[in-house]
Amino acid sequence: MRKIKPIAKSGYINFDIQQKIHLMSYTVGLLEIINRTHNVNSYRVEKPKGFIFTPGQATDFSILKTGWENEKRPFTFTGLPSDDYLEFTIKSYDDHPGVTHYLRSARKGDKFEISDAWGAISYKGEGVFIAGGAGVTPFIAILRFLKQQNKIENNKLFFSNKTEDDIILHEEFTEMLGNNFINIITRQPGTKYLTSKIDKTFLKKNITDFSQSFYVCGPDAFNTAILKDLEELGAHPDTLVFEK
Ligand SMILES: Cc1cc2nc3c(=O)[nH]c(=O)nc-3n(C[C@H](O)[C@H](O)[C@H](O)COP(=O)(O)OP(=O)(O)OC[C@H]3O[C@@H](n4cnc5c(N)ncnc54)[C@H](O)[C@@H]3O)c2cc1C
Repeated sequence: MRKIKPIAKSGYINFDIQQKIHLMSYTVGLLEIINRTHNVNSYRVEKPKGFIFTPGQATDFSILKTGWENEKRPFTFTGLPSDDYLEFTIKSYDDHPGVTHYLRSARKGDKFEISDAWGAISYKGEGVFIAGGAGVTPFIAILRFLKQQNKIENNKLFFSNKTEDDIILHEEFTEMLGNNFINIITRQPGTKYLTSKIDKTFLKKNITDFSQSFYVCGPDAFNTAILKDLEELGAHPDTLVFEK
């Protein structure tokens, strides 16, 4: 999973500490929880008046309960900018009592604090999205937005998960992308999906054009290895969009 960093940076927009300090905070109430997988829910919250974000951007999020207020975690907006609510799609780590575990027991009306949207990945043109697990969240926002604009075109998503049950928004991605939604399942013998790790051999076999945009988001090791492979296969660093 992506690590929390005090200063958010993205492929193209770097945010310095001054910009972070000037982010405004908003209190929002929980409207609805939608279950997505065995450990992922979408949380829809009130949208502050005039709040804006670009699909792919994130916020600093905290739970407004005693003892939790200062536990800020970055989460990505997964709804559309035109929605009258904000949505986050969050994987819970239940192995320790952190924010994502706590969120599972949240109730309608619970209050959270979010910051202005910052940094993160944004759409730079048609290309290939490569996601590992909950790293897909910025791509949910971007692809939903493209779909809304009728501009999904030939964008392709390679989505790597351990098991089929881990695939977030399976139906929605299939509906949006058709054959351009390609699942990779790494730890489920007998799966009907591709099973090979996304590495240089995989990329070479499955991608012909390395001059298009590449969007990479997953655990740090996943990002580092895939970005290196893409460059070695001819992708220009300027066409790589990722969290630094
Ligand atoms: C820009 C950005 C955007 C993000 N967007 C999303 C998003 O949209 N959706 C999403 O699901 N995630 C997203 N993440 C990741 C998300 O921020 C983290 O998963 C979240 O902060 C974890 O918070 P936590 O308090 O539950 O866990 P933390 O306590 O912060 O722990 C994080 C990791 O350490 C492990 N860990 C820590 N302490 C212990 C312990 N005592 N015992 C066992 N394991 C431990 C956890 O298993 C977990 O893997 C994003 C990250 C970044 C950087």
